[in-house]
Amino acid sequence: MKQPHILLVEDETHIAQGLIFNLELEGFLVTHAETGAAAYEAFGRQPYDLVILDLMLPDSHGIDICQQMRKTSPQLPILILTALGEEQDRVNGLKAGADDYLTKPFSLDEFLLRVSGMLRRSTWYQATLNRAEEYLFGSNRINLNNLQAITAGGNIRLTELEGRMLESFFANEGETLTRAELLKSVWGMSEDTETRTLDNFIVRLRKYFETNPAEPKYFLTVRGRGYRFVRDP
Ligand code: CA
Repeated sequence: MKQPHILLVEDETHIAQGLIFNLELEGFLVTHAETGAAAYEAFGRQPYDLVILDLMLPDSHGIDICQQMRKTSPQLPILILTALGEEQDRVNGLKAGADDYLTKPFSLDEFLLRVSGMLRRSTWYQATLNRAEEYLFGSNRINLNNLQAITAGGNIRLTELEGRMLESFFANEGETLTRAELLKSVWGMSEDTETRTLDNFIVRLRKYFETNPAEPKYFLTVRGRGYRFVRDP
């Protein structure tokens, strides 16, 4: 993968400097804009892999910028940064097409996790748009476009829901997905729904893809929280 290019729109210098420093440490290329005007200018100059957007800017509101960017770049991951208590802004930001938000003050770790998660998801979605992209781990080859899987135990035809669950895991490799997140992304359910179905699905995935389903290496249980997919145990 080429070095991801991030557009950071943030007018508070000390915050921006900290973020740039750490994003660059992670290997990202960062373009910084301090105003809405500068953001539009930078945005028109070249494509980006991710935009991080502060909402309160001296010359404009981040929500408007978000909407504008969405018009021309429907696939672009946009992360908005809001100040504590700007609940309505957060809602409006998501309505305007942002993919995710972080409330200031946030921890640097969480910020970097969000950024890399968003980039990974977007790369993965682009790959699926290009079709025929196969996902490999262990001795398994999985194609989520046609829901065919080749495993050590033979060929499997995955169900739509199994495909969706694998999609969530692959898009969040190495990260814990809570039960609530999985239920929501796979079944569209809220977290208070009966959740034994989820565990049954995990049992099935382990049976398909694990060498020893009783001692899983890829689809791990995170006690009290949910599950985690590891591609290279
Ligand atoms: Ca600001």
